Amino acid sequence: MHSPNRSPVHGFDGGQSPLTLRLPDEAATIALGRELAPLLTPGMVIWLDGDLGAGKTTLARALLRGLGHAGPVKSPTYTLVEVYVVSSIYWYHFDFYRFNEPEEFEDAGLGEYFRDDSVCLVEWPEKAAGHVPQADLALVFRFAADTPESGRIIDLHACSEAGNKCLSAFISRWPGAVN
Ligand code: ADP
Ligand code: MG
Repeated sequence: MHSPNRSPVHGFDGGQSPLTLRLPDEAATIALGRELAPLLTPGMVIWLDGDLGAGKTTLARALLRGLGHAGPVKSPTYTLVEVYVVSSIYWYHFDFYRFNEPEEFEDAGLGEYFRDDSVCLVEWPEKAAGHVPQADLALVFRFAADTPESGRIIDLHACSEAGNKCLSAFISRWPGAVN
């Protein structure tokens, strides 16, 4: 079973402590996505970590909407990747849930999507462990209680200098955010 509590941060020791936020309802997840969206810059990799139904796709959708994308944002569970061009930047939204082996990342030639001029949002990065590029920001969702109706708790980990910058900017904009 996927463990939402293991640390997604690898080998980056200049990072600040993760920021933990309580998201009492879907509206809070959407508000987070909209606030974070303008702080993401080309070249960044964002891992969205957490169990089924935790809110990963909801957050990805809110990010894209926050950038002005008006069309649908569907889960890439079956297509592996959905592509968006917003503000002249390529946004790739991945979901590796259906991978049987992490090597499928290479078989599908997905490395070429991770470029300086793209932002990659990755659901289920652990299913492509060792192949998917490391995160700049890792967003780790947990259920606040045992039911899907419960709110969520999210830890925002900065895993690179770009992630650090982004998290610092976010903290200065989000009321009550202190890590
Ligand atoms: P995932 O991509 O992680 O499998 P989805 O985003 O597809 O999850 O689904 C998450 C579900 O949880 C949706 O029904 C959404 O409305 C709901 N949801 C999202 N954020 C919250 C929250 N903070 N509290 C309660 N429900 C939420
Ligand atoms: Mg999803």
